Amino acid sequence: MATLRFQAIEDVLHRTPKNKELPSVKISDFFAENVFNKKRMQEYLSDEAYDSIMETMERGVPIDRRIADQVAASMKDWAISKGATHYTHWFQPMTGATAEKHDSFFKPSLGGELEGLEKFDGTLLAQQEPDASSFPNGGIRNTFEARGYTAWDPSSPAFIMGKTLCIPTIFIAYTGEALDNKMPLLKALDAVEKAAADVAQYFDKNVKKVSTTLGWEQEYFLIDKALYNARPDIMLTGRALLGSAPAKGQQLDDHYFGSIPARVEAFMRDFEVEAHKHGIPVTTRHNEVAPNQFECAPMFEEANLANDHNQLLMDILEKVARNHDFRVLLHEKPFAGLNGSGKHNNWALATDTGVNLLKPGKNPKSNLQFLTFFINTIKAIHDNADILRASIAGAGNDHRLGANEAPPAIISVFIGSQLSQLLDSIEKNVKAGKMTPDDKTALKLNIGKIPEILLDNTDRNRTSPFAFTGNKFEFRAVGSTANCASAMIALNAIVAKQLQDFKSSVDGRIQKGDKKDEAILKELQKLIKESKKIRFEGNGYGEEWVKEAKKRGLSNLKDTPRALDILTDKNTVKLFNDLNIFSPIEMEARHEIELENYIMKIQIEASVLKDLCINHIIPSALQYQSRLIENARGLKEILPAAEFKKAAATQLEFIKVISEKVNDIRTLSEKMMIEKTKAENISSVNKSAYAFCDKVKPYFDQIREIADELELTVDDELWPLPKLREILFTR
Ligand code: ADP
Ligand code: MG
Repeated sequence: MATLRFQAIEDVLHRTPKNKELPSVKISDFFAENVFNKKRMQEYLSDEAYDSIMETMERGVPIDRRIADQVAASMKDWAISKGATHYTHWFQPMTGATAEKHDSFFKPSLGGELEGLEKFDGTLLAQQEPDASSFPNGGIRNTFEARGYTAWDPSSPAFIMGKTLCIPTIFIAYTGEALDNKMPLLKALDAVEKAAADVAQYFDKNVKKVSTTLGWEQEYFLIDKALYNARPDIMLTGRALLGSAPAKGQQLDDHYFGSIPARVEAFMRDFEVEAHKHGIPVTTRHNEVAPNQFECAPMFEEANLANDHNQLLMDILEKVARNHDFRVLLHEKPFAGLNGSGKHNNWALATDTGVNLLKPGKNPKSNLQFLTFFINTIKAIHDNADILRASIAGAGNDHRLGANEAPPAIISVFIGSQLSQLLDSIEKNVKAGKMTPDDKTALKLNIGKIPEILLDNTDRNRTSPFAFTGNKFEFRAVGSTANCASAMIALNAIVAKQLQDFKSSVDGRIQKGDKKDEAILKELQKLIKESKKIRFEGNGYGEEWVKEAKKRGLSNLKDTPRALDILTDKNTVKLFNDLNIFSPIEMEARHEIELENYIMKIQIEASVLKDLCINHIIPSALQYQSRLIENARGLKEILPAAEFKKAAATQLEFIKVISEKVNDIRTLSEKMMIEKTKAENISSVNKSAYAFCDKVKPYFDQIREIADELELTVDDELWPLPKLREILFTR
């Protein structure tokens, strides 16, 4: 009997919810208690130090050494008062996860007896040299300097995790190249914020600063730890490589917003308390479409902080899940045939005067401002759809994009029928020459109506990868495991570039004699015309759209190596270099790292799959087969010869079917491993990734099909791996 599987099921059936006492019924009593935020800084810092760090946080003014010492000393005092013994520079290498290296506050001093003191100063706060040579670097650190260092990001507050003070940092090579996600994100935000502020000045001279807002929604699956441990594929790759679909899937849609089962409820309450203690403003809690799938979303925040919070939240999810005997699956597609998981990135731009630039206003003037940012964003997506596509590429997301489940790999923008009509009317009614007063009035009237039309604009299109949702754009194609920085770097960079171009064109028109509003309208009309083909209001999941998109000349890049090609394009390299986000060397390194991450994932999946076939599935199929042979022998003893012959023939058929499947699965596994070795031996990373994609990966589905047939053939008692229905419905 397959003991591990049945033991696991037994374990799950005996679990009970682990309800924990809430620290207080009022969240405000403990919200951000583990964060060295403004409130705490005010309490712990001198006025001078506080003002100085605010300058740094809000305007990026460099901090001086004396102040850094003060900040470090008070951070340490606060952390120790909260029971912390260690500190770490918390950073985001390009593995997608976060990393940290812990150091003790206590520094023993030299001398006879062991003595010493708790030490942490400005230098230790500002800079560290983790021995992090094993993080991906795309050749940068081989070519240049072997060492990399982490540097404090004062714009994101330090926090305590367990007994460690965590200081958000960037991770760079000694020669200055970025080795992480945070540094380029900060640069991209800087670029878009400057460009947006310049354009916002057309409408309001008081705007001094624009900031980018990000509100993510995190989807995930939750499964019991015993079942998880009995599935090597889920443990090692985050997804089920095999398993026939449960008879009851999501057809009934009874999970969506369904009641949250008691164990999950206890977990969620615990997890939300932890998130709140870390200052993450999570609010919503509901089930997603698939069984055991859930979602959490916070209030939006400034993008860099929001991204740190998402990274932190993924850590917290995993830690808290363990306390409840669950494991979290963040993979984009843990179970074929069921809904995958995404991480919608809601994005907008806000001014320091309190205006959301993507929210329609109350009069034609503020609406012209809205239209400016709205249309420029669409144009940016139109011109750079492939860059956006590359930013969300990854082995996991390949199962989600362009597969039979949305969003598709084709990038398009949804804006709703009313806004489409408005853009169409601007396109028609703005004249190239001077506009007549009548034209102007008509347009003014139209533009003035935006807030009203949006109020009853309820047609939300859930199949679009990039949708306007009333006062923000929602980038839905981002994968659930992703670091939002990747998508946010791309989006903010392309919008920055577009806003810069817009500003210089409008200024040019003004110089030639156009009034400001007219110049803006004419330029917008041009952008509307030029970006028309990226707008799509229909069903993004349909076959029709694939054909239509092809006709329009839109890309449909279905896998990671192909999606990443754009990163080597000379225009892409120039765009990121001009914006000072990535140098050509960094760009090349990113491409290589993404390819290496892809290769590594497919490599692991192939090895695990082969292992499952050879060590788990084939042995149990053969065991079942010998039982059948045994059985046939038994028949010979009890049946008259003529009847036995007939019965044996039927039995033999069955035995042969199993033999064939066992042979097929073995042959396919061997062939797959030969292709894997070939792909590994290709020296060009790019060609190797293509080989993994085109030569190795296709075996996954072929092998799975046969393995799943065997699962349905072999005696349930002998099957070694927990079945999908057990994983998804036992809790
Ligand atoms: P959905 O219908 O896609 O589930 P939700 O209402 O759950 O949408 O999520 C909306 C998300 O958008 C939330 O995370 C919210 O914080 C975010 N959001 C709202 N306004 C903004 C904004 N101005 N900028 C960025 N994100 C925003
Ligand atoms: Mg959403």
